[in-house]
Amino acid sequence: MREYAVIGGGIGGCSCAALLNASGKDVVVFEKEPYLGGCASTFERNHFAYNAGATTFCGYSEGRVVKKLFNQVGVVPHVIESDPAIVVIQGEKVIPRYKDIERFINVLNVHYPHPKHYEFWHLIKNITTEFYETDGYYYSNASWAQKLYSLRTFYPLLQKFWNYLFRDAKSFILHFYANIDPDFLDFLDAQILIVTQAKSDSINFLNAALALGYTFESNYYALGGMGKVCESLTENIADVRLSHPITKIEKLKKGFRLSTSHYEMDVKNLIMGTSHFESSVWFTSDKIKKYYRRYTSLNNHQSAFVLYMNIPNTQEFYHHYQIISKITFPYTISQSLFVSISDPRDTELSRNNTLSITASIHTNTSYWLGISDTEYKERKEILSRLIEASICDTLSINKDTILRSFAATPKTFGRYLNRTQLGGVPMNRSNFLPFLPSNDTPIDGLYQVGDTSFAAQGWPGVVMGSFNLLRLLDE
Ligand SMILES: Cc1cc2nc3c(=O)[nH]c(=O)nc-3n(C[C@H](O)[C@H](O)[C@H](O)COP(=O)(O)OP(=O)(O)OC[C@H]3O[C@@H](n4cnc5c(N)ncnc54)[C@H](O)[C@@H]3O)c2cc1C
Repeated sequence: MREYAVIGGGIGGCSCAALLNASGKDVVVFEKEPYLGGCASTFERNHFAYNAGATTFCGYSEGRVVKKLFNQVGVVPHVIESDPAIVVIQGEKVIPRYKDIERFINVLNVHYPHPKHYEFWHLIKNITTEFYETDGYYYSNASWAQKLYSLRTFYPLLQKFWNYLFRDAKSFILHFYANIDPDFLDFLDAQILIVTQAKSDSINFLNAALALGYTFESNYYALGGMGKVCESLTENIADVRLSHPITKIEKLKKGFRLSTSHYEMDVKNLIMGTSHFESSVWFTSDKIKKYYRRYTSLNNHQSAFVLYMNIPNTQEFYHHYQIISKITFPYTISQSLFVSISDPRDTELSRNNTLSITASIHTNTSYWLGISDTEYKERKEILSRLIEASICDTLSINKDTILRSFAATPKTFGRYLNRTQLGGVPMNRSNFLPFLPSNDTPIDGLYQVGDTSFAAQGWPGVVMGSFNLLRLLDE
């Protein structure tokens, strides 16, 4: 019987498999697709390569959780620094989020002059630094006793950030600035949404500060695509099975029996790297299905619409832009587009003297599922053309030079990654930690990693969850 099987080779599956492997454990990874990465993968279409979703690599500064992961696993990802981490464009205003706080505040003061900026952004930076320097807490779900015991380890965090935990971010910001330009609030809200999956009126100020503060840390661009980073993580694992979807999982007296369409394998411990909201479908056990159903209410059905494009490499761009428009795009829930453009030095993504673009926007699954094929195609077409136009207008790209463009909807993500909800559990105030899924479960030998379980979405959040799991397994 194998010791550990990890189902799903996204950031969660790859990072915990790599940590287990580095600690000498026997581990096998099953990934449905022919490549690793999931939402953070890089795929090929018609001989060109595109990042499927994630494009920014953060948490990789010295002492931070993603850096710790790579150090522990003993591999180095092929990345270059992005500074500014993003360039926010709001109408005529172009505001690069420089890592250097004074440089950023100087630009901000040109567009949104305010005497409180210095104090506000230094507070954001200090909270971010202090948060990531706080260590030692962990979260378990195996039993109520374990849960309560683990929650005690959050005491240092609670002590430090008490003032920010129980205040909603919007009222904190309005009170702090006293008089605030509504466009400046949109500027903040758009950035908060991409990290926390929620707006400032529904999250606490601590989460808002972390969402606004990550640009003061080092941020990186993954050469060869984000999928390469996941590949590098697993390069020392002997048994990574690509194009091996798991079709059924049975609970045995001791362990689990996994089925693919070709064979069965028995394992002692099972780590699900698939979305919490979809994981139950493969299990035959009612008890396990019931466990997953406990968290159904956390599924907010939020998702992403992503447009992929190629343009000729004739202009200079930054790696990442956030374009904030005045109106909410149709069939979406957002006014802002996140646009990433490949670096010309990237021989994989910028093939044949072209640049590869991944542009994403928040949407809701209800706009895309359960509608007729005609309606679906029509919506896809309308939104694709609007996004194309917005990118071309804002970044002065001649629309006629677009070489190819195609889009992914929540339905597309469902087909490829077996998930339609994207972005994990939003960090809003109603999603309170004791009620969130942990990386262990009350079922013997069953574990869960990824952005729908502790700690959060994105590289730092998902990797924190994998470390949490390793700690729980060590106990
Ligand atoms: C559009 C978009 C942009 C984003 N941008 C960023 C960003 O710039 N930076 C950042 O840090 N984060 C970003 N994120 C968030 C980040 O990508 C996710 O939080 C993270 O990738 C989730 O990883 P995961 O391991 O939880 O799940 P997933 O990525 O969903 O991985 C699950 C894996 O399981 C596989 N799988 C499913 N079913 C089976 C099965 N039956 N058998 C075997 N395998 C199976 C899937 O194919 C997939 O590979 C973005 C997310 C989206 C959607």
